[in-house]
Amino acid sequence: MQNLLFIDGRFQAALAGGTIDVLSPSDGALITRIAAAEAADVDLAVAAAQRAFPAWSALAAAERGRLLLKLADKIEEHAEELAQLESRDTGHPIRDSRALDVPRTAACFRYFGGMADKIEGTVIPVEAGFLNYVQRKPIGVVGQIVPWNFPLMFTSWKMGPALAAGNTVVIKPSELTPLSTLRIAELMQEVGFPAGVVNVVPGYGHTAGQRLAEHHGVGKIAFTGSTVTGRRIVEASQGNLKRVQLELGGKGANIVFEDADLEAAINGAAWAIFHNQGQACIAGSRLILHERIADEFLERFTDLARSIRLGDPLDPHTEMGPLTSALHRDRVLAYADIAREQGGRILTGGKAPSDPELAAGYYVEPTVVEAQPGDRVAQEEVFGPFVTVLRFSTDEQALAIANGTQYGLGSGLWTRDLQRAHRMAANIRAGMCWINCYKRVSPGSPFGGLGESGYGREMGFEAIHDYTEARSVWVNVDAQIRPHYQR
Ligand code: NDP
Repeated sequence: MQNLLFIDGRFQAALAGGTIDVLSPSDGALITRIAAAEAADVDLAVAAAQRAFPAWSALAAAERGRLLLKLADKIEEHAEELAQLESRDTGHPIRDSRALDVPRTAACFRYFGGMADKIEGTVIPVEAGFLNYVQRKPIGVVGQIVPWNFPLMFTSWKMGPALAAGNTVVIKPSELTPLSTLRIAELMQEVGFPAGVVNVVPGYGHTAGQRLAEHHGVGKIAFTGSTVTGRRIVEASQGNLKRVQLELGGKGANIVFEDADLEAAINGAAWAIFHNQGQACIAGSRLILHERIADEFLERFTDLARSIRLGDPLDPHTEMGPLTSALHRDRVLAYADIAREQGGRILTGGKAPSDPELAAGYYVEPTVVEAQPGDRVAQEEVFGPFVTVLRFSTDEQALAIANGTQYGLGSGLWTRDLQRAHRMAANIRAGMCWINCYKRVSPGSPFGGLGESGYGREMGFEAIHDYTEARSVWVNVDAQIRPHYQR
């Protein structure tokens, strides 16, 4: 497959000739070397997207939709290949890439393919004699920066609504995991997307990413990543006051009440934190347990954590793969020391596995730590297979702990009490709340955060709104109504 930049419908080397090594997270071996976009390459990509915009936005909406639907079919035809590519590049267990990442990517493109010709305007009931209608128009060129944790899926979350609404795209995947986005570009070419509609510029954040965020030819920048980088994006966007959409970090509160179905809650809590090695902004990384069930819960939960099979991401029996980079593995492991220094108790994990077969990869054991709500491990996003346990005795306490961070993205609660469930869901400060489940997503349901988890929404009509401008048109429909100053 291609390992070059994709600009104006052609795969090409970076102008300065730079490359980046893409390493396998399971053994550190070189997978391939890709072209590294720098500012001048981003400029070329934005210029190509600007040239493509008039024709793409003028194309019948159903035609844009048809291309997205064809792409969804194409992704399904190449499902196994894409699953393998994603697992090799990111470390996702292949069973997850097959069952989740690839189908969800196809479903997202299909959803927005179907949406393309349903982006309707509105007629506003204004005073007699006037017709006021509002159209939703594409913004223009949008810049999109996707991180390394779900590169394939996030490519569809970002590109699907942008393209359906008639925008053209310059997308920068993380230099750690660029392969599935480049492969999607090839498939887009095959199904007939016109040149320049989508441009892919893998490169470093501080060069290519920064240039995209500050570029005056870009009308909107959509970013998924850390809150720290999110702030930089906002600063960089100021030059032309471009629109900004931020999907940032999280510290998901997952509350288990004393009346919960414990078996379901234990399994659900493990899924909430250990899926994708905990590298998810919505991960249920704070497990908030009612004191009456906490001891039994923790005994069973830590047993389950210890039983999770770590291994080669391409082995279908593997339940947890390596973290995506060595740097990130070290960052996650450092949090075990931070927990200990603040008096936290490591109940299991907190280290790399001892299995010599895993020694070359970036693995971390499933880690369960008991701490206090103000501790760093209860406040900061660890972004690994690392869950912080906190205890509570009343609903009010549970809510105060849940809402006691800067973040507000994913959250969950486990209870059989219907009234309590709805009451809590209404009061947890988070963009998403799952009741007796966790981490459910659908292309139709808005996804995004509050507070320092960012703003704007992916998915559904909300995403279409975020990728369009409302234009209001006033028509005088009554000949008797004259302009002012008429003599
Ligand atoms: P970053 O936020 O630094 O990176 C995310 C993306 O932004 C990457 O493509 C990165 O490129 C790019 N980027 C970095 N700096 C800039 C910049 N100045 N301008 C534009 N783009 C930029 O995350 P990290 O990879 O450093 O991970 C650190 C932490 O971030 C994690 O531990 C986790 O807590 C959080 N995170 C959250 C994610 C989420 O889904 N919300 C996803 C990833 C990380 P490059 O790779 O070259 O730096």
